[in-house]
Amino acid sequence: ARLYDAMRELSEVKAAKDEKPSKDGVVVYWMRNKDLRLEDNTALSYASAVAQEHSLPLIALHIFSLGDYKSHDRSPRRIDFQLRQLAYLRAELDKLHIPLFTFTQSSERKAIPRILCEKLAEWNAFGLYANIEYEVDELRRDIEVLERTRDAREQGEGWKGQVEFFKDFCIVAPGELLTKQGKPYSVYSPWQRAWAAHINSNLSSFISPQNGPVIANPSSARTHPILEPMFSHEVPTSLPGFELAEQEKKDMERLWPVGEGVTEGIMGRFLKTKMREAKFFEPPLEGDGNEVENPKKDSKIAKYTEGRNRVDWDGTSHISAYLAAGLISPRECVRAVYKVVGGKEVPAGRDTGFGMWIQEVAWRDFYQHVLAAWPRVCMSKPFNLKYDGTIEWATDDDESKFEAWKEGKTGFPIVDAAMRSLKAQGYMHNRCRMIVASFLCKDLLLDWRKGEKYFMQMLVDGDLGSNNGGWQWSVIRIFNPASQSEKVDPNGTYIRHWVPELKSVKGKAIHNPSAALSKAEILKLGYVPPIVDHAEARKKAIEAYKEAAAQG
Ligand code: FAD
Repeated sequence: ARLYDAMRELSEVKAAKDEKPSKDGVVVYWMRNKDLRLEDNTALSYASAVAQEHSLPLIALHIFSLGDYKSHDRSPRRIDFQLRQLAYLRAELDKLHIPLFTFTQSSERKAIPRILCEKLAEWNAFGLYANIEYEVDELRRDIEVLERTRDAREQGEGWKGQVEFFKDFCIVAPGELLTKQGKPYSVYSPWQRAWAAHINSNLSSFISPQNGPVIANPSSARTHPILEPMFSHEVPTSLPGFELAEQEKKDMERLWPVGEGVTEGIMGRFLKTKMREAKFFEPPLEGDGNEVENPKKDSKIAKYTEGRNRVDWDGTSHISAYLAAGLISPRECVRAVYKVVGGKEVPAGRDTGFGMWIQEVAWRDFYQHVLAAWPRVCMSKPFNLKYDGTIEWATDDDESKFEAWKEGKTGFPIVDAAMRSLKAQGYMHNRCRMIVASFLCKDLLLDWRKGEKYFMQMLVDGDLGSNNGGWQWSVIRIFNPASQSEKVDPNGTYIRHWVPELKSVKGKAIHNPSAALSKAEILKLGYVPPIVDHAEARKKAIEAYKEAAAQG
């Protein structure tokens, strides 16, 4: 918590606002990996207003920090998604005469604050504006920028312009909601109630966007010479060490498009079209001619309470990658829901699909709040300290079991289907994320951090807060893969799609082939017998967790 508090304290002593800019100065918006949009972007909107007020050119910077991407296991798919959106944004910003420049910091990521402050001094920058990222390394980096500026002011040497970091990534920012005892909430339900009450008590300001539009620069001619050659006006198509194979790149472009109207399309399909069996188990990309007359009753979101629990239905929004990289703001998502439902409050309960969906979006805020309040979770520590180093993870042939899990060859059809979907699409249904996570830590008794890391390397929507939170949540649960499978994919449609070896298996046997077929019969289908016995593994896991809890 101290890091986020330090950031907030330092932000209080930011440069005095009454200072006059020099005539040849510039205003800098530092675009991050999580706010890749022009609309409802707090720092960008503010930077744009400052530039206009002082008649200064606005420039946008984006820094690729390869060292961070490596140490944070960022997925090459997510990087590709980010680069494609950046190329689109560069073109959009060009139309407003706001140049977007990129800079690649290859190895020494800790050098970024120094390099940046030196450049800001060179450019005579009046101000630097960015949105807060709540992860530990990112907070440390931004704190150093604030400290360098503060020191420069005190010592009269170095860049001493305005620096401001804004709360933007969440609907209700970390630190805003505290228990009656003034402590951070550690449990979701009371936190969520406080979250909903907070929004509803500020409803009118929430409903009308507070962030103004980006204003065109009068002229950017002056900014190019000062930025080049160190910064590039080109957005690279890939980054060294994170390239995608040609086919994978094509698949990702098709599944996760970027650019104009994409997020509106995704939200529109969720809010105004009918739920149906998932088509090819791909995110619904095109308008599917399924518009409903009464979205309040018949849309996917209206049926979300049931739809979210069925992996064979196209029952969720598929907006996660766009929220994780900030192509749409979470506020905008909730406003879109409110526009359909109306009324005096943003729906917040579990009684309707609308309220249920907003509660899911609240989980995203909750996990950011957890990151800021308990930064140890960013450093591979369990949230629940009684499990810190106390669980005896399986070490015998764990690599072969881990490989089988990654490749979707465990002999548990729902687990295998889900893992294959992750590999193919960079996405997995939420129910399946829980099932495969619990399977890794309970049935295979493998360290959950291995799974967390693999998810980050594969997901297009990979986000440290939500991914870590999802793993920490799943690690304390135990699921029976076969009975979960019957619930989430009753007819086995999802399994047959992803595990075609089982196409000919009829009825309930699809969920647990080894109960109906011999090992030889399973092998003959080209499938694999179960790599563990669930009942035995369950007993072992319960024992291991009990012992850990007693020690912790
Ligand atoms: P919808 O059901 O339509 O939900 C709407 C939005 O709410 C999502 O896009 C997401 O932003 C948010 N949301 C929904 N459920 C959760 C949740 N449980 N936690 C946090 N936010 C949520 N989500 C990520 O965005 N990035 C991750 O890296 C990630 N890793 C996960 C790992 C595990 C082990 C688990 C159990 C969950 C993880 N989730 C993650 C949460 C969830 O699975 C995805 O957000 C969801 O599947 C995305 O699909 P959707 O957009 O159709 O979701």
